[in-house]
Amino acid sequence: MAERKIVVVGNPVLRERATEVTPAMLGTEALHALIGDMVDTMRGAPGVGLAAPQIGVSLRVIVLEDQPGSMSYLTEEERRARERVPFALTAIVNPVLRFIGEDKVTFAEGCLSVPDYAAQVARFREVEVSGLTEDGGAYSWRASGWPARILQHEIDHLDGTIYVDRMDTRTFSVLEPREG
Ligand code: ZN
Repeated sequence: MAERKIVVVGNPVLRERATEVTPAMLGTEALHALIGDMVDTMRGAPGVGLAAPQIGVSLRVIVLEDQPGSMSYLTEEERRARERVPFALTAIVNPVLRFIGEDKVTFAEGCLSVPDYAAQVARFREVEVSGLTEDGGAYSWRASGWPARILQHEIDHLDGTIYVDRMDTRTFSVLEPREG
């Protein structure tokens, strides 16, 4: 597996609707290799989520992972406000999102394909994602708080949507470099 180059805004692949993974691709070496590269690229960036179009592959695949070390820059109170809870590495093929309830929460969000910027984005607080594992098993996850935000952000990428399309434009900011 290898880290791949992350494509940035301006590349048309980020504005296309990505294609469904076909049944014939499930469980193949090629799909495992794609997901392995996505995981290495996400961890290398580092980031907490990545969609296949971000490495130039227009397929409906996302990976996400949030470990305690990734959130150590936030205070306990900030973590609580964001409902930022760790979760294990997850890869979802052909994810479909359902919003639960009407509650939205607004926090700063960034994107590896829009490096060095962030902005406030309102997202549904709770969602349910359903889809497939890389071997074709049924997958579903009901998530709230930060994991729900990551899911909305990554699945948006599969439809050619970037957070800047949803942000409060007046909060768009250059990110402060941070330690670690
Ligand atoms: Zn992104």
